Amino acid sequence: MLIDTEMTTKSTTTLPTNVLGFPRIGAKRELKRAVEAFWNGNIDNENLQAVAHAIRRDNWRRMKQAGIDLIPSNDFSLYDQVLDTAVMLGCVPERYAGINDPTERYFAMAKGEQRQGTDVIAMEMTKWFDTNYHYIVPEFTARQQFRLADDKAVREFREALEDGILTKPVLVGPVTFLLLGKEKEPNFDRIDLIDSLLPTYCQLLQQLQLAGAQWIQIDEPMLAMDLTPKARAAYDKAFAAIRQATTTKIILTTYFDGLRDNAQLAAQLPVDALHIDLVSHPDGLDEIVPLLGDSKILSLGIIDGRNIWKNDFEHSLDIVAKAVAALGSDRVMIATSSSLLHVPYDLALENNEQSLPAEVKRWMAFAWQKIDELAALKSLAAGDNKKNALLEANKADMLSKRSSTLTNDPSVLKRRNEAATGNVERQSPFAQRAKLQQASLNLPMFPTTTIGSFPQTKEVRQWRAKFKKGELSADEYTQLLRDEIKRCIRLQEELDLDVLVHGEFERNDMVEYFGEQLSGFAFTQNGWVQSYGSRCVKPPVIYGSVARPRPMTVDWITFAQSLTKRPVKGMLTGPVTILKWSFVRNDQSRRDTCLEIALAIADEVADLERAGIRVIQIDEPAIREALPLRKADRNEYLQWAVRSFRVSSSKVADTTQIHTHMCYSEFNDIIDSIASMDADAITIECSRSQMELLDAFRDFQYPNGIGPGVYDIHSARVPGKQEIVDLLHKAAARIAPQLLWVNPDCGLKTRGWEETLASLRQMVDAAKDLRAEYAQ
Ligand code: GLN
Ligand code: ZN
Repeated sequence: MLIDTEMTTKSTTTLPTNVLGFPRIGAKRELKRAVEAFWNGNIDNENLQAVAHAIRRDNWRRMKQAGIDLIPSNDFSLYDQVLDTAVMLGCVPERYAGINDPTERYFAMAKGEQRQGTDVIAMEMTKWFDTNYHYIVPEFTARQQFRLADDKAVREFREALEDGILTKPVLVGPVTFLLLGKEKEPNFDRIDLIDSLLPTYCQLLQQLQLAGAQWIQIDEPMLAMDLTPKARAAYDKAFAAIRQATTTKIILTTYFDGLRDNAQLAAQLPVDALHIDLVSHPDGLDEIVPLLGDSKILSLGIIDGRNIWKNDFEHSLDIVAKAVAALGSDRVMIATSSSLLHVPYDLALENNEQSLPAEVKRWMAFAWQKIDELAALKSLAAGDNKKNALLEANKADMLSKRSSTLTNDPSVLKRRNEAATGNVERQSPFAQRAKLQQASLNLPMFPTTTIGSFPQTKEVRQWRAKFKKGELSADEYTQLLRDEIKRCIRLQEELDLDVLVHGEFERNDMVEYFGEQLSGFAFTQNGWVQSYGSRCVKPPVIYGSVARPRPMTVDWITFAQSLTKRPVKGMLTGPVTILKWSFVRNDQSRRDTCLEIALAIADEVADLERAGIRVIQIDEPAIREALPLRKADRNEYLQWAVRSFRVSSSKVADTTQIHTHMCYSEFNDIIDSIASMDADAITIECSRSQMELLDAFRDFQYPNGIGPGVYDIHSARVPGKQEIVDLLHKAAARIAPQLLWVNPDCGLKTRGWEETLASLRQMVDAAKDLRAEYAQ
């Protein structure tokens, strides 16, 4: 089935272009501003809706202009598309029943509501597959009722139609919707709700048909995940019912991974078209073609919906040609791999050469550029010779990237290859190291410490802003921060903490701070992507060989250490976290990029050690969220993730104590990997689970030091000493007391000073109580 590109240029096929979804926060974050203004009572609902409408209309018009065939609607949301789906299907938890205004109720579900006699908590929020987007988790009861309670999908379809644009409504699929949710009562399985959900779901499809929809996109990313037999059966049932209910053409979309073992299941569902993500799973085409029967259309997800690189046209045209040869030109669409929700709007808004060099920008494409790429691929696949210049330009871009010295620094490559297989053991096992470290550090039992950051006050943030604008000189800025560090060290001494920190006042963000100092990283001015609701993030772009030209933290840490006899922890962000929270290069494996970052961090560790720093913490909060979606891929990932951590941390003397920190609470399935990172101490989030998650560490007999967080830093509440003592007793019942550290759940940067000092005082007092108890 191998086809050369000759065929593409000769054929005269016009393949429909298909966009799965588009960003909605606004090119300049207009929606974010409007939604927040509405929450603050500064604009009314009508104004909010007008901003929302303008964003939708702009998206539709520009896609239409670009010549896109299947333009999405109902991909827009004021907060989250899963929440929208729950509202449309009448799946609103009891506690919101008292709120009559639909918009108010919607936002109360999203983020809670506390005013004028209403006091309801928000629904839960969690990560959307392995992206950095978060969705609202639907809540189900055993006797959950559904009803068509809102017609948002129909409204938005009509709205576009009034503007002369025929769109393809996008719906979260019924099985994915159930699987994304959570049972709120014991003893039932939410997937069993499929029978009661389907009539309502089908009603919605019929309304869309009535409104004139020609295609409806049903998103079933769960089809690309590991499925239970029950879930598979639900798919058969759901799509049989859907087929019965409507004659509108259905495109079933899967993304973020391949169909793999679900290919057979997906291929035989009675829909008109099936979409697969060929970016995350390039083998998908070969897998699905033989199973597809003789009429189903295949939508090829070839434009990366989750990363910011230009498409490689030659490569894409090869894939298209292969699919056309196998299926015929009337059975192929070309598409974005997933919704473009996960990339920023417009590369044309980027014009800061300093943070994003032209050479790198040349390799990139944001959502609008991706729309143009899709249109270009359509013309090229149709053999439109007038568009050959586009192909030539694209080839030149790809060549520029491949051959650039920015992407292949030979010295980085050499080190990386060595690190891929080299020894990453500490010199001695933990038990031996621990003795040497104790001789050097001389810490009491139940040693106290914090996770790194201290309150980032308005003043601290203002200094940074002024420094960036040139309103403060480097010397002035440094002096202000040094004074803040001095104050922070004094306060920690007064509190009688054992291992101190410098406070991280110089850092804007734990990844950006390091990225800005590493080679191979670029930064955008406007590259915002929605993280949840109105919250957006601006991830760094890793485009090339990563190296550390000069020390990044040594001056700050050694300054802090010079102020005290107590050990000050050097504070670094780990390689996996830096990788996961950035856009990564797509021309080498994530594993390789991670190893390069790990080596850069190792250089920093070595310099800190040389400068006399005896405790070094390497934060890895993202290690769990970077876990692959499919179980079959997890071991390989964990191996390189752990190796990366060890590359950055293992080349130190036995006397140097390595800490790590992770801020979440699910360790059961990865505890052996966590242990094999071999940090001398790990601090974790624990207080809200009342130390229960320590069971995983106990059952596994976790061998090294461990600091289960003893109070929740997400709230301003000051814990009482006795609460902390009780938690420590629980911890000591599960973990050998000699291994226990005493610390908060996470960094303190979002807290105020007053509550921080009060809380830490209770924490230190509690540790002292335990010491006294164990001294008897
Ligand atoms: N050292 C960081 C801090 O204290 C860790 C933050 C995190 O793990 N998210 O802020
Ligand atoms: Zn944390």
